[in-house]
Amino acid sequence: MAPYLWTLQRVLPACEAGQAEAWQAFLDMYTSVARGLLGVYFRSSGDESREIWKRALRGLSANDCECLRAFDHQAEREFLTDLRAYLLELAAPGLDPALDLAGPQRPGTETLGGILQGLPFLHQQAVFLKLAGYSDAALDKMLKMPPAATERAIERLRRDHSAFLNRPQDECLWPAAWLAFQRSLRAAPGKDCPPLRQFVRIVDGQASWYDKAPVEEHVTACFRCLERWCALCEVVYWRGKAEALSPGEADELLSLLPIQRRPGERQSLLARLLK
Ligand SMILES: [Zn+2]
Repeated sequence: MAPYLWTLQRVLPACEAGQAEAWQAFLDMYTSVARGLLGVYFRSSGDESREIWKRALRGLSANDCECLRAFDHQAEREFLTDLRAYLLELAAPGLDPALDLAGPQRPGTETLGGILQGLPFLHQQAVFLKLAGYSDAALDKMLKMPPAATERAIERLRRDHSAFLNRPQDECLWPAAWLAFQRSLRAAPGKDCPPLRQFVRIVDGQASWYDKAPVEEHVTACFRCLERWCALCEVVYWRGKAEALSPGEADELLSLLPIQRRPGERQSLLARLLK
């Protein structure tokens, strides 16, 4: 199949069946998303990010792709938020709290509640993503706001979190603490929380004001949903910045995956050397 014809709905079942072409497409579509996300939280080491992606691929494909099969298979953005949560769970234990920025109050529901108090929905998203480590330029794109509006939205951080402002790179300043905080939000019970599909419909402009207003009201009062909403912004951002894999990198990653080889098919020299 031509590379541009692969979609999530086609690629996942074919990966689960062990098709090399599908795994190649999966790697082309999603490696740069993983690389982007991990780059924010592992700013000190590209090698470490690459290792986590390899561990993730092994984990996703182990036991007849048991883990991959549990992810959303219908819609790419939902799938990517599942993948993001999986990657961050994998990455978090390797982060050293001693490397977090010293000084600002630790992220937690109380700290965040104080910062977000009374802010409108869009400004809450901007502050949350800023505390995660995103640059102003990334926020402009993620939230589709002009730079002056982004600047106003994050003004609340000037007093106690000024170290997070005016940074050109996308890099988390307190990755161990921030990922632990996000993890606690993901694990919180979400009995009245709307499904992610509703967030996607709002982002796509497909929801009426009557559908949208209660969801936005819920998210402004629910940190679990604010984390899910911002996760959606993150994966859309990184998916839009997709970069092609180098042939050597693709071969190395393919060698980790459970590919059913056709009779007589030969592996590339590099794949054989890496075995
Ligand atoms: Zn909620």
